[in-house]
Amino acid sequence: MAEKHKKPHAIVFAYPLQGHIVPVVHLALKLASHGFTITFINTHSIHNHTSKAHPKTGAELFAKARESGLDIRYTTISDGLPVEFDRSLNHDQFLAALLHVFSAHAEEVVAKIVASGEDVHCLIADTFFVWPSKIAKKFDLVHVSFWTEPALVFTLYYHWDLLRLNGHFDCQDCREDAIDYIPGVKAIEPKDTTSYLQETDTTSICHQIIYSCFIDTKNADFVLCNTVQELEHDTISALQAKIPYYAIGPIFPNDFSKTIVATSLWSESQCTKWLDKRPHASVLYVSFGSYAHVTKNDLVEIASGLSLSKVSFVLVLRPDVVSSDDADPLPVGFKEEVADRAIVIPWCTQREVLAHPAIGGFLTHCGWNSILESIWCEVPLLCFPLYTDQFTNRKLVVDDWKIGINLSNKKVISKEEVSDNINRLMCGESKDEFKNRIKEIKKTLESAVSPSGSSEKNMLQFIKDLEAKIEKIAHAKNSNCNGHV
Ligand code: UDP
Repeated sequence: MAEKHKKPHAIVFAYPLQGHIVPVVHLALKLASHGFTITFINTHSIHNHTSKAHPKTGAELFAKARESGLDIRYTTISDGLPVEFDRSLNHDQFLAALLHVFSAHAEEVVAKIVASGEDVHCLIADTFFVWPSKIAKKFDLVHVSFWTEPALVFTLYYHWDLLRLNGHFDCQDCREDAIDYIPGVKAIEPKDTTSYLQETDTTSICHQIIYSCFIDTKNADFVLCNTVQELEHDTISALQAKIPYYAIGPIFPNDFSKTIVATSLWSESQCTKWLDKRPHASVLYVSFGSYAHVTKNDLVEIASGLSLSKVSFVLVLRPDVVSSDDADPLPVGFKEEVADRAIVIPWCTQREVLAHPAIGGFLTHCGWNSILESIWCEVPLLCFPLYTDQFTNRKLVVDDWKIGINLSNKKVISKEEVSDNINRLMCGESKDEFKNRIKEIKKTLESAVSPSGSSEKNMLQFIKDLEAKIEKIAHAKNSNCNGHV
């Protein structure tokens, strides 16, 4: 009879971008709190950024998690590029390394862990990696794909062949009418699909990654998605007909504003004391996330719009937000002009800022983590999508859930429109409407992660299904061995 398995040991690979690291670290902590043994793999580059940003944490990012009783080991590998290489400035080369070189390093570390005699059972890797199912197969591991964006975005990529077949993607003159044939998606305008699905050059490095990773993901044993079933019910149901798909979000630290594992790639400036002095819901929080770039023109219009609006604000401006080559892209005199009602900082603890009672709105690039965090803090959104999934996320926020508005409805944004919309969100008649709607959506998130909620149930079901699969693989191995004797 097959020996009863202890809780699984999972090797977890973090995709080396900020918006992917935050949820995968908390997924690893969650699984460890369910009794899993975790070996968490970061790249040297991410490790260096994080430990430089948090000198007190030291080299062992998971030390505190281990002290709290969780079985989490930690190791780092190369992404194929020198640590000091500027990945933001040379984005395509960075992605090319992830596409072509990273798998060799990933395979090497998995082989090493397996060879050490550790009983390893599964490989959990971000969906954007192009190699996990091949490596999982080679080492007899269960492959769990982790998707950090909405299920709606997943299904668009999952069906990119259907989009192509119907003339909505990768054609000379793509159709401009609504896409109404994706299972579980009522209709979506082409402008609301991801930036990659709207581009005319479909041979870029990003496209190559998306094609390859979705071919790989079709072979995954399970997909975990950082979303909530009730928010994307039809999309998720349709996906479940094709692939074991579990909505387990929102994945946050136990204590929302604080985490026992450092995840920020940059050190965080404090603004709590400044916020403490501001009236309730009076401050707009402005951030473009960790990755997307804003054009200089747009940034100047947004800064001038903020100035015109007379609203108080916290502006997070990464040094590379326009480009690593342009360290000071704000209009001359801007900081002085708004000094009595604003602060400009390079990076912050976003969850802590959003949770502060003085925050009343979030001008966001619509990164998925930012949206989930904003909903959790009941902060309505002013949407300025720039890139990748952000256009689709905007549609969910503005058109479907009605918890925010667009920053601009025109092709070219102007300071007047920016100012008007800031005031509409923060002080206008519709302010309470957004606030009430976001309270409703927050309730959906809250109940999903309550003990009897959908995300908790889905997580338990995933663990049960994973254990059954592991048992099956072990049984097959035993039978094979016996057969050979
Ligand atoms: N974030 C932060 N400080 C900042 C800006 C962002 O801690 O000053 C965090 C934010 O809380 C979120 C992540 O970085 O968890 C960004 O992820 P998101 O999906 O919103 O956007 P991306 O950076 O991937 O475009």
